[in-house]
Amino acid sequence: MKDCIFCNIESSRKIDEDDLFYVIRDGFPVTALHTLIIPNRHVETYFELTEDEVLALNSMINKHKQLIEEEDSTVSGFNIGMNCGEDAGQTVFHCHIHLIPRRKGDVEEPRGGVRHLIPGKGSY
Ligand code: AMP
Ligand code: ZN
Repeated sequence: MKDCIFCNIESSRKIDEDDLFYVIRDGFPVTALHTLIIPNRHVETYFELTEDEVLALNSMINKHKQLIEEEDSTVSGFNIGMNCGEDAGQTVFHCHIHLIPRRKGDVEEPRGGVRHLIPGKGSY
C-alpha cells in the first residue's frame, strides 16, 4: 500500500523479521522499549490475520518479551494491546500489536492496566 507507513517502513528500523511479521521500536514510545509487531501483509486489524499469522504472531510476542527482559532487568510486566478500528483508538490502519514493557512504579496506580482505556471505569 503506497501511503501506508507500516508498508513502507525503512528496513533499518526493523529489529527483527520473518516471513510473516516484522518488529520495530515504537516511534513515540509510551515506555522505554515499547515495541510494535507488524504483519508484512497489509491488513487493518488483528481480525483479518490468518491462523498461520496468529501462530507466528504469538511466537514473535513471546520472543520479544524474552529479549526485552534480557535487555532491561527492570522490566517486571507487560501490556499487550491492539487498537482495532478508529473508534477503539487506532491511528495507523495497518495491523500492529503493542508490546509495552512495564516497570514497578512507572505509574502511580497500575492496578487495572488496560481496563483504564475507558476513563473512570478501570477501578473497582
Ligand atoms: P495505534 O494508535 O494503535 O494505531 O498505534 C500507532 C502506533 O504507531 C503509535 O504507538 C505510534 O507511536 C506509532 N507510530 C506512528 N508513526 C510511526 C512511525 N513512523 N514509526 C514508528 N512508530 C510509529
Ligand atoms: Zn500497510
